[in-house]
Amino acid sequence: MIILIGIWGVIMNDNIKRAFLFDCPIDLVTYEKVLSCTDSWILNNDPKTRLIFAQNPEKVMTSLENKELNKALNQADILIPDGNGVVWALKKQGYKLEGRVTGIDLMHKLLKQAQQLSVGVYILGGKEHVVKKAVDKIKEDYPNITISGYHNGYFHDTEKIISDINSSKASILFTALGSPKQELFLTEHVNKLSVNVSMGIGGSLDVISGEVKRAPKWAQNLKLEWFYRIVTDPKRMKRGLKIPKFIVKVLFKSH
Ligand code: UDP
Repeated sequence: MIILIGIWGVIMNDNIKRAFLFDCPIDLVTYEKVLSCTDSWILNNDPKTRLIFAQNPEKVMTSLENKELNKALNQADILIPDGNGVVWALKKQGYKLEGRVTGIDLMHKLLKQAQQLSVGVYILGGKEHVVKKAVDKIKEDYPNITISGYHNGYFHDTEKIISDINSSKASILFTALGSPKQELFLTEHVNKLSVNVSMGIGGSLDVISGEVKRAPKWAQNLKLEWFYRIVTDPKRMKRGLKIPKFIVKVLFKSH
């Protein structure tokens, strides 16, 4: 059931308030709210697979041009306010939210939850050596976790991957195919999946495996992680430039 409530957005199932920035949905959630939803989805073993995606200025800008991505985002159960830019823009437009819910931190909290609930996790995505290193690191950091399975993100036989995920009996699927690939993949195949919840985690396996460093604290504190990423990886320039465009749009155009 979805009820319209004006500037405050819409109230979704699970009592989540959904806001919109230029027609792009973002949920006004905290870590606690997301974890209480995943806890009940897992414990109730609901047959519906729930999807969690992370929202940042780059994705908002991409979804303005990419209707398929916009549709996929609208189908998600939770869209976390991952980027500093979306938190700033939402507050500027009068929405109330506590702060960021970052994809990487939420992933760690979900790994901890999976360990506490004794349910399995499946990791999909990244290059072969990256996903292997990430799985080793997760096992080291969460010694009682059950990794039900994993696979790199460069596959052709989608049905085989889905069957592997389902037969692993994992409850949580972390999907790291980058954006918008992971959002399109998950919304297309969600009805065939039997996991309770899947989260799109972008490049998080690169960070967990140590292949890519998370932006240093100074860049995080100055809210310049995006700028740090462009400088350290100039291939990201085109994507990174969507952020200043987003800022201009928020400042000068109405939503
Ligand atoms: N990736 C993948 N399969 C693909 C394309 C990308 O597994 O077909 C992985 C890639 O190896 C990397 C991640 O997806 O680990 C993309 O990272 P990026 O930083 O671009 O993602 P973002 O967080 O920006 O969406």
